[in-house]
Amino acid sequence: MQSKWEENIRTVTPYIPGEQPKGTDIIKLNTNENPYPPCNGVKKVIRDFKTNDLRLYPDTDSTALRNALAERYEVKPDQVFLGVGSDDVLSLAFLAFFASYKPVLFPDITYSFYDVWADVYKIPYKTVPLDENFRIDPNGYKQPNGGVVFPNPNAPTGVLEKIDTVEEIVSSNKDSVVIVDEAYIDFGGKSAVPLVKEYDNLLIVQTFSKSRSLAGARIGFAIGSERLIKHLNNVKFSVNSYTMNRLTQACGLAAVLDEQYFSDVVSRIITTRERLKFALSVMGFQLTDSKANFVFASHKMLSAKEIYESLRKRKIYVRYWDKPRIGNYLRITVGTDEQTDKLIAALKEILSERGL
Ligand SMILES: *Cc1c(COP(=O)(O)O)cnc(C)c1O
Repeated sequence: MQSKWEENIRTVTPYIPGEQPKGTDIIKLNTNENPYPPCNGVKKVIRDFKTNDLRLYPDTDSTALRNALAERYEVKPDQVFLGVGSDDVLSLAFLAFFASYKPVLFPDITYSFYDVWADVYKIPYKTVPLDENFRIDPNGYKQPNGGVVFPNPNAPTGVLEKIDTVEEIVSSNKDSVVIVDEAYIDFGGKSAVPLVKEYDNLLIVQTFSKSRSLAGARIGFAIGSERLIKHLNNVKFSVNSYTMNRLTQACGLAAVLDEQYFSDVVSRIITTRERLKFALSVMGFQLTDSKANFVFASHKMLSAKEIYESLRKRKIYVRYWDKPRIGNYLRITVGTDEQTDKLIAALKEILSERGL
């Protein structure tokens, strides 16, 4: 029963992150982490870090890391915003930019944190259905709104939209802020960062968690017009000034500087992803043409739930949602080649045990 005081508090149904199992013998393909280690520069930063520096508060602007990102993405430092993972960046962006009484628009199938942030901040929202091929229809975003947010490639489908589609959505929404969540853009997509020159209401959000192997360090960033970033900083500095700690700032800088390692790791993952897609389609799976570091697959004869549970018994963790439209799909992170071989072997076994 609800207590009287609970009528006066903020209640919300939280986001459920993928499970982080304790065992070391588990093949973990459920949270889209990178299977390869961070670059050597990160290792060196941690080894040489002076613990005495932790007496002091960190740089509130993460200046060195911000400058490096500005150079890498060919924008001004004042166009870059840093946060503790892109979840932090997105959460602050919802708080800063979605303050209208009109609904914020996002796809019906998308990152399941968006409706949670909308709920916790009491932001009205409306979902726009993806078409039958899980594609975003830009016409759905030509209605009155208090903001727009979508990932590209989308999650958990992995479907990438062309830059023209992104631009069509941005150009038809000049009276609100449009956020493009590019968590997976490095795995084969074309970033919309160059569009921020033309559209001062466009915010691009990216993360170090997937393509730069730093999910545990918590580094996310946004790129937008100086005006937009100023508003985002005003909200950030009204909530918590000292978000990213000193060690993390130094690790992030080392990661941005090693462009060669970054592109090597990304291309390895892309090669494994395409091999996995082919192997799964031969086994009777239907797949989207994922351009992320995961595949999104549905078997013609066996339910996603049953495959999920059978893989779990074999200590292979993948992601499954009991939700409309995607309840028969599995989202499987692209691991190392060895992990991928074990996954394929396990799936063959599961199917053959059922005579499939
Ligand atoms: C993983 C993910 C994020 C958040 O990643 P962080 O680890 O918080 O940087 C944001 N958006 C999407 C679509 C994601 O898949």
